[in-house]
This record gives sequence, structure tokens and C-alpha cells, in this order.
Amino acid sequence: MKNLLIIGGGTAGIMTAAQLLKQTSFNVSLIEPAEYHYYQPAWTLVGANAYKYGDTKKSMSSIMPKGVN
Ligand SMILES: Cc1cc2nc3c(=O)[nH]c(=O)nc-3n(C[C@H](O)[C@H](O)[C@H](O)COP(=O)(O)OP(=O)(O)OC[C@H]3O[C@@H](n4cnc5c(N)ncnc54)[C@H](O)[C@@H]3O)c2cc1C
Repeated sequence: MKNLLIIGGGTAGIMTAAQLLKQTSFNVSLIEPAEYHYYQPAWTLVGANAYKYGDTKKSMSSIMPKGVN
């Protein structure tokens, strides 16, 4: 089995990991130092007072695809 390491668990890293787990049999690992992920596109709405800042924040573990190390 091939091992693949992704550095950075932002939008790109999480999406890449999820797709690779779906489409390959790679052993996927990800390095991410942050405890929380922020949904950045909603920050525009926060600025317009149409979205709560707290709702843009999720724990990194809750959005990590199942099967990623
Ligand atoms: C206000 C705002 C509005 C936006 N609106 C939109 C929109 O409407 N539509 C849209 O498509 N995009 C939008 N974006 C852009 C979108 O959010 C970003 O393009 C996207 O989040 C980038 O993803 P990324 O994975 O490259 O970076 P990020 O999501 O920033 O993730 C980078 C990750 O790498 C980690 N990292 C950094 N250094 C290291 C290291 N040395 N080792 C390991 N990990 C590391 C960080 O902790 C972070 O988790 C918006 C952005 C902002 C700020």
C-alpha cells in the first residue's frame, strides 16, 4: 500500500484527503497543527452582520475524514 502525507488540513488538505480515501487505497496521513477549522467564506457574512463568527468555527477533529491518520 502506498503512503501519502498531506501537510495542512485546511480546505485543500481536507478535500484532497477525502477524495484520495474515496478513490484510492492509499494510506493517507495529514499534519495539521490547528485545533479548529474556520469556514472562511462565511466571514464575509460576519462582516455584514448576517452570520455569527462562532458558527464559522469547528473542531478540526470533527471535520477530519474518517480513515485519515
Ligand atoms: C473572508 C474570506 C472569504 C472567502 N470567500 C470565499 C468564497 O466565497 N468562495 C471560495 O471559494 N473561497 C472563499 N475564500 C477562500 C477560501 O476560504 C480559501 O481559498 C481556502 O480556505 C484556502 O484553502 P487552503 O487549504 O489552501 O488554506 P487554509 O484553509 O487557510 O488552510 C491552510 C492550513 O494549513 C495549516 N498550516 C499552515 N502552516 C502549516 C505547517 N507549517 N504545517 C502544517 N500545517 C500548516 C493551517 O493551520 C491551515 O489549517 C474566502 C476567504 C476569506 C478569508
